[in-house]
Order: sequence, then C-alpha cells, then structure tokens
Amino acid sequence: MTKVFDVIVVGARCAGSPTAILLARKGYRVLIVDRATFPSDTVSTHILHPAGVSALSRWGLLDRLTATGCPPIHTYTFDFGSFTIAGSPGTEEAPLAYCPRRTILDKLLVDAAAESGAEVREGFTVEEILIEDDRAIGIKGHAKQGGSIIERGDIVVGADGLRSVVAETVQPEQYDEKPPLLAGYYTYWSGLPMDGRFEQYIRENRGFAAAPTHEDLTLVIAGWPYAEFAQNKKDIEGNYLKTIEMAPAFADRLRAAKREARFAGMAVPNYFRKPYGPGWALVGDAGYNKDFITAQGIMDAFHDAELGATALHKAFSGMLTFDTAMSEYQHTRDARVKAMYEFTCQLATLKPPPPEMQELFGAVHGNQKAMDDFARMSAGTISPAEFFASDNVNAIMAATQDKQASG
Ligand SMILES: Cc1cc2nc3c(=O)[nH]c(=O)nc-3n(C[C@H](O)[C@H](O)[C@H](O)COP(=O)(O)OP(=O)(O)OC[C@H]3O[C@@H](n4cnc5c(N)ncnc54)[C@H](O)[C@@H]3O)c2cc1C
Repeated sequence: MTKVFDVIVVGARCAGSPTAILLARKGYRVLIVDRATFPSDTVSTHILHPAGVSALSRWGLLDRLTATGCPPIHTYTFDFGSFTIAGSPGTEEAPLAYCPRRTILDKLLVDAAAESGAEVREGFTVEEILIEDDRAIGIKGHAKQGGSIIERGDIVVGADGLRSVVAETVQPEQYDEKPPLLAGYYTYWSGLPMDGRFEQYIRENRGFAAAPTHEDLTLVIAGWPYAEFAQNKKDIEGNYLKTIEMAPAFADRLRAAKREARFAGMAVPNYFRKPYGPGWALVGDAGYNKDFITAQGIMDAFHDAELGATALHKAFSGMLTFDTAMSEYQHTRDARVKAMYEFTCQLATLKPPPPEMQELFGAVHGNQKAMDDFARMSAGTISPAEFFASDNVNAIMAATQDKQASG
C-alpha cells in the first residue's frame, strides 16, 4: 500500500528544505524529493542578506553555516563612478550578510530537513503531478535507477524553481509579469581579497558585483541588458572583462587575481504566481521570481518557507480554512516584496536612474545614516517604499543642504 504523507515537497534547495524542516518539526509527515543529489551546485550567485541570515538563526542553523568558514560581510558598497555609497546592510541584532556556496548552504538545509524527521529522497525526478477531481493528490516520479513510483500527499508543495513542474501542471494565475531584463555571468577568483565587503559597481548599461565566499574565493558577477544577451553570449569572457574595465581600480585588482572556475549565468523572467490551490502550494522561485540584480531570491525563499509552512499548519490544524490561510500567505508575501520587485526590475534595465534619483543618491553619499539605510534598502532589510518615502527623501536632501550651508 502506498504511504500517505501530509505534505510532499518537490525541490530541496532554499525554498523546499526549510519548508520541510518547519513542517516536520511541527510533527507533519513530510516527503521531500529532488532530482539533484547533495552537495551540488546550481546556476546562482549566493549573497544571503542579513534578513536571510536571521532566518537561519531562527531555525538554529546559523552556527552550522559559520562553522563552514564562510566569511562574514559587514559592508555593502555602491560605486556609481563619480562617488561611492558605503553602508551596513543589517541591523544591530543581525548586522552581517554571507555569500555561502550553494554546494554548502543547500546541503546544510537538506541535512536539517532529514534531521527534522522529513523523509528525503535525493536523485528522485518528479515526472508528473497527479490530479484527481481538479485536486493535486500526489506525485509520480522515479529514482535514478528505478521505475515509476507514486506517492500520495494531502498537499503537494512546488519548491521546484523557475521551471516548476507543479506550476506547469496546475497553471496558476500569473501577474505583474515582466520579461527578462538582464543577462548576468559569474565565476570565482583567488587572490582577490574583499575585506568583508560586498562591492557593487553601477555603470551605464553595465553592472558588476563582487563578494567573498568559501575557500578564500571571491565571486564576481557582471551583467548587461537582455537586449545584448544573444550577441554577448558569443564572447562571455570578453564582455565580462570589458564590463569590469569600466571600474579601472577594480580591474587592476582582478588582473592580480586568478580565475578558478568556468563562467556560469543566465537571464530570468519576472513574475508573481498565485501560490495555492486545491491540494497544492508554491514557495520560492516557483511562486515568485525576479531578476537577481538585488540578490533577494534565497532570502525570499526562506521567507516563503516560513509563511507557507505557517499557513499550512493553520490549515491542517483547523485554525483557518485552507483558502483563508493560503490567501494570507499570498498577501503577506506580495506586500513584503512588491516595492522591492519594482525597484529590482527598474535596476535590472541598467538604465541611468532619473535625474531626481541621481540627485538623491548624490545626497546619500557622505551621510552615514542615509548610506546605511541605502545599504539596508538594497539588502531588503527595509523596504524601498520606506527608503523612497517623501519624508525620508526630504530629510536626506535637507541634511545635505544644512551641510552645504554650514560648510
Ligand atoms: C545568475 C543568478 C544569480 C543569482 N544570485 C542570487 C544571489 O546572489 N542571492 C540570492 O538570494 N539569490 C540569487 N539568485 C536567485 C536564487 O538562485 C533563487 O531565488 C533561489 O535558488 C530559489 O530557490 P528555490 O528553492 O525556489 O529554487 P531552486 O534553487 O531553483 O531549487 C529548485 C530545486 O527543485 C528541483 N527540481 C526541479 N524540478 C524537479 C523535478 N521535476 N523533480 C525533482 N526535483 C526538481 C531542482 O533540482 C532544484 O534543486 C540568483 C539567480 C540566478 C539565476
């Protein structure tokens, strides 16, 4: 007889494993599957902003990450060519960001899912989501060497990323869509010390960023508008290096460094999806995706896991109906990220900011509180809606005028 799970989670990385951890810890019978085996990499850089680090801490997993020797990041810098904004991205309670290799972070999460009591099946590909009377009732898939297996569950959670088989099957409503805006490529360098800084360089039609990661390596990603995707794909290394030459001091540092890996990268679409329906739910990129220029994805996946698992618990325990609990999840998710989504999509065009925004950034430069707030906003610690609120903008502009008047 097939075993029945409360929840079957498809995908075991940043969204899936935390969802499984949180539900299994509440005593639910959870099966989590992934066609990948762990440790393994995926196409993604891996800045984890302080709010994502806080989530690891809430789950009791931060010590495991720091024990891997991942260097902490205390400062974000934004070099606009004529000036640089430098601020701290976190809060007093959670001041640090990290840039953990996905081979390490994802493995740590999958292991924690197993420890929490979830049944983990690695190397298991889901071929089909089973639907009965318009309701998801389970999965059909196979292990690497095996034949087809059917597993049934009350809820099938799609944590299966951009090309989600769950979303493809249930065809959720999709909204606020925007096409791919940016193409980005990254690799790893040795001999490129970063001194605890995540450095970002913004130039017209180009941008790049660098952050320290495991094994004394530095991750450097460079990007250009999606309109140049096909053309520039013919010479990724040449276009990457040309982009970095736009910041000569950094280019000098890179010349003294050694490339240690192949280039990887891609362009992604931007969308929201309704994250629930009869017998199914979506978390992480499967439910909401945005360009990687603001590096929100892992942190957002963590938030989704918490919100989604809480909503499912409310539904299972009869505290709320499934629809009410999951609609709360959708609205909380969307309200939290909407302003950042717009900011991210605007930034990903790599177009120069409008003149009033350039004036604001100029006024932020040199005002430490405003620079910290700017770094916090870009890290998602505070919302762009809060940072760009007229009261805050007026206060930043007034401080500059006062400084000019007194200087
Ligand atoms: C170039 C690039 C750079 C990025 N940089 C950053 C960054 O610096 N910081 C940041 O926070 N985010 C970044 N992101 C975004 C981040 O990678 C994602 O938001 C994050 O990985 C989402 O996690 P997830 O668990 O939803 O999906 P994924 O990480 O995509 O995991 C989905 C899992 O589902 C599994 N799966 C899929 N289909 C099936 C199936 N049919 N059967 C079984 N298993 C299946 C896959 O094997 C995979 O392991 C970047 C993305 C890109 C493309």
